[in-house]
Amino acid sequence: MPHSWLQQLELWLTERPAAPSPPRSVPGTAPVPTPSPASGNTSPPPAVPSSDDSQHATAPPQPILPAAIPLTLKKNSRARRYILRVSRDGIVHVTIPRGGTEAFARRFAIEKESWIREQLLRVAQTPSHKASWGPGSLVWFRGDRLPIVTHTDHARIGDFVFPLPPRDKDWRPAVERHLRSLAAAELPPLVLGAADLHHLTIERVQVRDQRSRWGSCSRRGTISLNWRLVQIPLFVRDYLIAHELAHLRQMNHSRRFWAVVEQFFPAWRDAERWLRENSRRVLT
Ligand SMILES: [Zn+2]
Repeated sequence: MPHSWLQQLELWLTERPAAPSPPRSVPGTAPVPTPSPASGNTSPPPAVPSSDDSQHATAPPQPILPAAIPLTLKKNSRARRYILRVSRDGIVHVTIPRGGTEAFARRFAIEKESWIREQLLRVAQTPSHKASWGPGSLVWFRGDRLPIVTHTDHARIGDFVFPLPPRDKDWRPAVERHLRSLAAAELPPLVLGAADLHHLTIERVQVRDQRSRWGSCSRRGTISLNWRLVQIPLFVRDYLIAHELAHLRQMNHSRRFWAVVEQFFPAWRDAERWLRENSRRVLT
């Protein structure tokens, strides 16, 4: 299960059309009917999805969006609804559920164009996460923002020593690479050790570069961790490892899952609090 920490606004296309009650309206979400079942795929989807809207549907929506804003369409047979998302990097994703069509997904996006534009504006107003680094720049390391200290032949952040990056360039790519190497060396043994302790079998540990999540766990037992785990406090890092391992017992975030987490890492609430308060600052 992904452990996602960035704000991702989602629009849920309703509930089955058969439901007698009007679609529920939750702030930040926009219900629209589910697609017609797969058997009906040969016929084109209705021009306007919801019957409530049909009275306004004298003209079909203008397809402004696909030309102006590229959409990333992805089919997911496990999805129950269409999901529209604008990710941090400004990409518009539409998840197409089982029995859904690309045409309907595009229409949905077109219909929600103003929402999408609003989200894109927010993304654009968020300070660039690619601010450049050099000597003295403050970098998250083990939960603190520490300066890059330079010496004649090396540099360091806290007690982490690495070769001096080229003087005349942005240091960020090089420093991030070194931090990632540190993560690649440090995290897999920690995961294996913790898995052993809890008698869990894991297939593989991956250290990845992700902006939207700290870690994930696949059903096959592959644990993926963000290299930025070396930037957060040790106890939070250890919690995240415990969290992903707990998914090997429960592939969900149910109460039973949290009971496993409690058993693996009793101080999980403190770690969750730290993440709530700081994730965005570390991941940007
Ligand atoms: Zn999780």
